[in-house]
Amino acid sequence: MSTASWGDGTRSVRAGEQPAVPGAPLRPSPVFAAPFHLGDRPPRADGADAYARTEQPTLRDFEAAVGELDGGRCLSFATGMAALTAAVLACAGSGDRVVLPSDGYYATRLLGAEELTRFGIDVVQVPTPEIERFAADGGLDGVRMVLLETPSNPQLDVCDIAAVAAAARAVGALVAVDNTTATPLGQRPLTLGAHLTVGSDTKALTGHSDVLLGHVSTTDDELHARLKGFRDRTGATPGPFEAWLGHRSMSTLDLRLARQAANAAAVAELLASSPAVTGLRWPWRAGDPSFALAARQMLRPNGVLSCELADEAAVSRLLGASRLWAAATSFGGVHSTIDRRAQWGGDAVAPGFVRLSCGIEDTADLVADLSVALAALD
Ligand SMILES: *Cc1c(COP(=O)(O)O)cnc(C)c1O
Repeated sequence: MSTASWGDGTRSVRAGEQPAVPGAPLRPSPVFAAPFHLGDRPPRADGADAYARTEQPTLRDFEAAVGELDGGRCLSFATGMAALTAAVLACAGSGDRVVLPSDGYYATRLLGAEELTRFGIDVVQVPTPEIERFAADGGLDGVRMVLLETPSNPQLDVCDIAAVAAAARAVGALVAVDNTTATPLGQRPLTLGAHLTVGSDTKALTGHSDVLLGHVSTTDDELHARLKGFRDRTGATPGPFEAWLGHRSMSTLDLRLARQAANAAAVAELLASSPAVTGLRWPWRAGDPSFALAARQMLRPNGVLSCELADEAAVSRLLGASRLWAAATSFGGVHSTIDRRAQWGGDAVAPGFVRLSCGIEDTADLVADLSVALAALD
């Protein structure tokens, strides 16, 4: 059932649904099985399930839903990193050059530096704000795949997907976009020319901080088959409970994003007015370096911001004086969180650099609580 003509709220609930069957539940229950009965028929006769590493009904329902939001065919993975690994290794091998963001998610940079290089892949790292120029200047010549991360995590820089995709397609390079920060409702890389859109569904797509999931979607049947083969053989398939939880959770994606974005808009104004804060980034705030491109390329805002406080002690004081902002990593969940990125070791950011993830609490409560905490820095 196509949901393309509906709005984000309807699509979040109804994407991928099968036609209603009297007596059946509105949302199918999880099917817990490793092997399925074969009976007297050969495996997978008439599409029957046989073994859950490769096929199972709960995963199919979840993938249908996410794929519909992405505008492609989706394959779900146990984590976002499993999805990213599959996106690269299903398409590139020894001797291939792969371009990764040098300012992207730290585990993705480590995947490139510590793992992909061991397989003979030539990894080139380019900062997100420079990738469009890099591509226009012929940097993608001889490249097998370029991975974009936009907005980048944690610094929230945005790059022009359509421009990079056009340059990549002109030289036969594949384009994958890590769409985690935006979510499939916030940005549709496949319609902008990307071959693959990848997400950590641990973040806003599921949004309750209680499950690890990732996915890759594509409109290209051949790439889908390669990725499916890679997942079948390497085994990073999520279990049915995670898939069911993911499907249940994404029903509220539109509502959560709307509240998170409204909270972020208010929090951005508060942070901008505080003398304790520098380097505020929120791509949807007029004046942000990413504003014009985000407004053109993206479909809607979300709740992730970043900024800098004086130092590590200032971040501790802020968190100590707050009742609603939890010290925690990850983002896109229903709880508001603050993460001091330098403590993880991977990001080239200042000791006082923080990523804020606005949850779905009341805007007035979050702003009042953060105002009190900021006052503790005076
Ligand atoms: C969290 C994240 C990942 C990794 O996802 P996991 O589900 O933790 O494996 C990849 N990319 C980005 C941008 C992320 O924020």
